[in-house]
Amino acid sequence: MPLTESQLADISAQREAAVTTRRPTVAALEDRLFTAIPLLDHGFVRVIDYMGDDGAIVQAARVSYGRGTKRVSEDAGLIRYLMRHRHSTPFEMCEIKFHVKLPIFVARQWIRHRTANVNEYSARYSVLDREFYIPAPEQLAAQSDVNRQGRGSVLAGAEAAEVLALLRADAATCYDHYAHMLNEDAEGAPADPHRQGLARELARMNLTLNAYTQWYWKIDLHNLLHFCSLRADAHAQYEIRVYADAILDIVRAWVPAAHAAFLDYRLGAATFSAGMLAVLKRMLSGETVPQESSGLSKREWTEMMSFLDR
Ligand SMILES: Cc1cc2nc3c(=O)[nH]c(=O)nc-3n(C[C@H](O)[C@H](O)[C@H](O)COP(=O)(O)OP(=O)(O)OC[C@H]3O[C@@H](n4cnc5c(N)ncnc54)[C@H](O)[C@@H]3O)c2cc1C
Repeated sequence: MPLTESQLADISAQREAAVTTRRPTVAALEDRLFTAIPLLDHGFVRVIDYMGDDGAIVQAARVSYGRGTKRVSEDAGLIRYLMRHRHSTPFEMCEIKFHVKLPIFVARQWIRHRTANVNEYSARYSVLDREFYIPAPEQLAAQSDVNRQGRGSVLAGAEAAEVLALLRADAATCYDHYAHMLNEDAEGAPADPHRQGLARELARMNLTLNAYTQWYWKIDLHNLLHFCSLRADAHAQYEIRVYADAILDIVRAWVPAAHAAFLDYRLGAATFSAGMLAVLKRMLSGETVPQESSGLSKREWTEMMSFLDR
C-alpha cells in the first residue's frame, strides 16, 4: 500500500470526525469516504467528498420543492427514463471529488476528459516519490496483431524477464539521476554542499512515464459516467480501466439506481448505425446476409457480429 503511517493517520482522523447535516448523505458511500482503494502497484483512488444522491437526480428532474422522491421503484423508473433518453442535466446535479494516485502515462489519457476540475501534485514545488509502475507479469503483453491500439498474447520466459528488468532499471536510473540533479537530502537541504542542485521544475523532465503523480479530480455524475463508458470499456487500456472499474464500484454504492441504468443503457448497450439496423431487419426476416452485400464495411460488419455474439 503506497500510504505512509502519517498519511494513514490523517485519513483515520478524517474518518473519525463526524458532523450532522441537513444535506442528503449516502450511508454506503459515507462508509468508504477517504479510504484509499489500492490500484496497480502503487496507485489508489479515494473519495474526498460528494454532493447528491439518486434522490437529487429525481428532485432536479421534477424541479420539486421537497426531496422530489416518490416510491423507490418510481424514482428508479424515472432515472432509467432519463438515462435512456439522454436527458442528462439531472445527472449533473450530483458531484464527486476523488484523490487519485496514478502513473503519468495513465494521467495523460485521463486528463483528456476535459469536463472535470483537476488539481495535480506540483513537481515544480515538491519532489516526486521513488515509485514506478511495473506491470504484473500477466499484463506484460505483446503488440496486438489485429488492433493497433491493443495488446496481444502475454510475453513469457526470457523475453518477459528482460522487459521487466529493463523497465525497472531504466526507471531507477532516471530517478537516481533526477535525485542527483536535485541534490537534496530527505530534509530538502543540499546533499552535496558544493553543488547548487537543479530546480525541481527542470529535474523532473528526466523521469520516466511510469512514475506516479497524484491529483484531486472533481466531476459531475453525467461526465463521470461518460468517463466510465470510455475507460471501463474493454477497448480501454488495462491500466486506466482498473481505475474506471474502481470508480464504477464507488458509483454503485453512491447512486445505485443511476448505476443500474448506466449499465443497462450505456456500458452494456450497443449502438447500431442505420446500416446495421437495416441488416438486422433483413436477418430477422430470415434472409441470409453476407457481409459483401450488407452495405457495411468489413470493420463495421465485425463489430456488429460481435454485438450479436456471432
Ligand atoms: C479507446 C480510446 C482511444 C483513444 N485514442 C486516442 C488517440 O489515439 N489520440 C488522442 O488524441 N486521443 C485519443 N483518445 C481520447 C479521446 O479522443 C477523447 O479525447 C477522450 O476520450 C475524452 O473524451 P471526451 O472529449 O468525450 O471527454 P470530455 O473532455 O470529458 O468531454 C465530454 C463531452 O463534452 C463535450 N466537450 C467537451 N469539451 C468540448 C469542446 N471543447 N468542444 C466541443 N465539445 C466538447 C463533448 O461532447 C465531449 O464528448 C482515445 C480515447 C479512448 C477511450
